[in-house]
This record gives sequence, C-alpha cells and structure tokens, in this order.
Amino acid sequence: MIDKKLLLTGAPYLDDAALDRFDTYAAELVVWNEKINLTAITEPDEIVRKHFLDSLAVLDYVKLPEGASLIDVGTGAGFPGLALLIARPDLKTTLLDSTEKKLKVLSDILDKLNLSADLVHMRAEEAGRDERYREQFDFATARAVAELKVLSEYCLPFVRKGGFFISMKGAESEKELADAENAIAVLGGKVSNMNRFELDGCGERAIISIEKINFTDKKYPRPAGQMKKKPL
Ligand code: SAM
Repeated sequence: MIDKKLLLTGAPYLDDAALDRFDTYAAELVVWNEKINLTAITEPDEIVRKHFLDSLAVLDYVKLPEGASLIDVGTGAGFPGLALLIARPDLKTTLLDSTEKKLKVLSDILDKLNLSADLVHMRAEEAGRDERYREQFDFATARAVAELKVLSEYCLPFVRKGGFFISMKGAESEKELADAENAIAVLGGKVSNMNRFELDGCGERAIISIEKINFTDKKYPRPAGQMKKKPL
C-alpha cells in the first residue's frame, strides 16, 4: 500500500521487516479509520510523510540507547511511539492515552505487527502520580497533545533523573518554549537542545529535548483543572 521508497528516502536505515510493518500499519490505520476517528490523514504518501517520517525524525536528533524505556504520552493512533517501536523493536515502549478505544485499536495493530508494548489507559496527570509510571522512563515523547507548558507537567514526571522528555512541535516552537521556561525548571527539567528543520511536505518542525536534572516535586502533576487555572 505505501511507497516504501518514499519511506526509505527519509529513513534509509529501515530493514525489510520494518518496511513491511509500516505497510501493515498504514493499511490498518485506513481500515480502522472507517470505524473510529483516528486520523485526518489517510492518503498513503501523506501517512508516510506526516505520520511515519515525522515520528521517525526523533531518531535523527535524539540518541535512544539500545533497550531504552520510552513512554509516548497522548499517543493517539501511535505517533510517535509505535512508529519508533517499528524502527527500533529493542525499545521498551509504553503507549499512554486517555481514550480507551484508541488503545484497543493499538492493541489490535500491535498483534498484527507481532510487536509488544505496554498500553496504558489513563490521563497523563493521573499516571504521572502513579508509582508504576512515575520517574520510571528513560524517555517520554509527545506530539500534538498540548502546549509545551502543560505538556511538560504531563511528561516530565514520567522521566527518571538523567532521562529526557522529547517534545515534537511545529512552527510555534520558540514561543512555546519561551512560555514554558518556568514550568520546565519547576518540574526538574533543563532544555538540552532544540532542533528545527523542514520536514518534506510538512513544513517547519522542531524537536525539543529536555533533560530531567532534578526529581519532580511530589505536588506535580496537578489535576487538569488546576493546571489550567494556575499555569506554571
Ligand atoms: N500523538 C498523536 C499524534 O501525534 O498523532 C495523537 C495526537 S491527538 C491530537 C491527542 C491525543 O492525546 C488524543 O489521542 C487524546 O486522547 C490524548 N490526550 C489528550 N490529553 C491527554 C491527557 N491528559 N492524558 C492522556 N492522553 C491525552
């Protein structure tokens, strides 16, 4: 279904097994999308560019050591978390979302891909207070979930000290980063770098790496209402 050559232009390291899995993933997205609203992007080349290559851009800018643990927060149809797992089946991957039906779809797709990941149906701000998930991960990733200030409160609690929160952003990245500076510091983070680039067919993108340099104070993450009322 997908143009594997197109996928290889942006991710030349993918082997045949990964290419076949991406093909199955794209086909499943289209089928599932007829039943539940998963993604507005259903044209094969667009799926490759705007979902697969966009997600895989993380690998161009962040070194994920062999066997690293990663939680994808607000994963939706699996971006970037499942795409990263296909490229790097060694990653210990957790996919978290507050919408149960999306996780059911992901469970079905993981079976078809013969891959395994932990699926967590919780709100990020609840899971971040749960000792099974709090400060347990080498990396937390998120794309298109919330503005960086709020997203930092969702994601940094999951990251162990010395790990990284990787935020995927678009053209507004600099402004979002400026707005989030205080929140990042309060939550124990420090911006390590921001890579801005043009993604073919997707415009300006940014990958912001935030290192967890201190433990997150127990009072965070706060319930969503408080986050809104009193942004950090
Ligand atoms: N990351 C995916 C992507 O880039 O295609 C999905 C993006 S979608 C716009 C946002 C997703 O975040 C939805 O699946 C939604 O259910 C989830 N979400 C929003 N707020 C959340 C929260 N507080 N905790 C967990 N998931 C959340």
